[in-house]
Amino acid sequence: MAEARAPQKSLPKINKVDQPYWEGAAAGKLLLQKCKSCGKVQFFPRVACVDCFSELDWIESKGTGKVHTFTLVRVPRNPAFKEEVPIYYINVILDEGVIMESRLVGDAKEKVKLGDRVKVVFQQTHDPNIKLPCFELAN
Ligand SMILES: [Zn+2]
Repeated sequence: MAEARAPQKSLPKINKVDQPYWEGAAAGKLLLQKCKSCGKVQFFPRVACVDCFSELDWIESKGTGKVHTFTLVRVPRNPAFKEEVPIYYINVILDEGVIMESRLVGDAKEKVKLGDRVKVVFQQTHDPNIKLPCFELAN
């Protein structure tokens, strides 16, 4: 008879394209891609510039931005997260101009309003090699 397994928290499936992004996060750096030709900054990691298909460099974000939108999750799809509810999912407009989906964390998160300034923090996962870029209110 099979034993019931405790639910596992999901982790990113790291591939060749986004590996530098996750290595940066593990080192406490939020990395974005910048086009070597047109200079466009983009997130999430892709193989080429979405505007001109040129090669990309990695740049370090300042890790600051503002809350574009947010929602609260009170019943997570994955039961492994049920002790963390409510989970604050946010879209952040980074100061580099790209929008990033993430989580708002920290003691002050209940006070979040649209447009609030945020700064990146890195949360350790149960995998010692993976940290998740999250955000805290900065004001
Ligand atoms: Zn480009």
